[in-house]
Amino acid sequence: MTTLSIKDLHVSVETETGAKEILKGLTLDINSTETHAIMGPNGSGKSTLAYALAGHPRYEVTSGSVTLGGEDVLEMTVDERAKAGLFLAMQYPVEVPGVTVTNFLRTAKTAVDGEAPKLRTWTKELSASMKNLRMDPDFASRSVNEGFSGGEKKRHEILQMQMLKPQFAVLDETDSGLDVDALRVVSEGVNAAKENSDLGVLLITHYTRILQYVRPDHVHVLVNGRVAESGGPELADRLESEGYDRFLVEA
Ligand code: ADP
Ligand code: MG
Ligand code: MG
Repeated sequence: MTTLSIKDLHVSVETETGAKEILKGLTLDINSTETHAIMGPNGSGKSTLAYALAGHPRYEVTSGSVTLGGEDVLEMTVDERAKAGLFLAMQYPVEVPGVTVTNFLRTAKTAVDGEAPKLRTWTKELSASMKNLRMDPDFASRSVNEGFSGGEKKRHEILQMQMLKPQFAVLDETDSGLDVDALRVVSEGVNAAKENSDLGVLLITHYTRILQYVRPDHVHVLVNGRVAESGGPELADRLESEGYDRFLVEA
């Protein structure tokens, strides 16, 4: 088991009027066996956390630390983060015209592991994962994200996660825009990935709906760039009935 440890993280973004601090001292420890949900109102900094962990150049970490198994994540390049076992499914993944899903996944897996996966087992695993995610086999030969529907993008994210087998996955609004059936399939995909191996999940979401399918061990409410409250799954249930008003008034 390893720990992703975020300590007093401050992150700024460059805007037209200068640097704006979005994360204002965020602290969080996630074990590779746990699922943590980060919830919060729009604009509270949830995606900023995901981008900062991903090493997006627009998001500057001004202070604080992020370590994975004691290693300094902030010193790592984007590639090194993936090799270290961090998986970031982005809210709006880019199109990669001309690169098929199969080739994209295999290239990514080879980069992360430092060697190409054995073709036979890889192919088997890929089709099994796709089947479980209720994906059409033809999907594998389509160009990455080109003309993908919202639901296909999300399934593709989970497929990537299952094939890359990271130690930690940060899923930013994987639930947004999904109908109930797709949400269930995607959630089952997350649960399956956790069953097969150690996988710490940081599930970022505005809505409590996905938490009925992927039960978190810990729930954190992010308000104005800080964790305003942490608790167990009951905190999500409370947010479901009360919303974020209580936190917004305090902020
Ligand atoms: P959330 O994901 O919780 O809705 P975000 O992290 O997307 O929140 O945004 C937090 C705040 O930071 C918002 O006020 C948003 O407008 C601002 N912000 C985020 N990214 C940028 C950016 N690239 N440029 C300017 N402002 C940004
Ligand atoms: Mg948002
Ligand atoms: Mg967001």
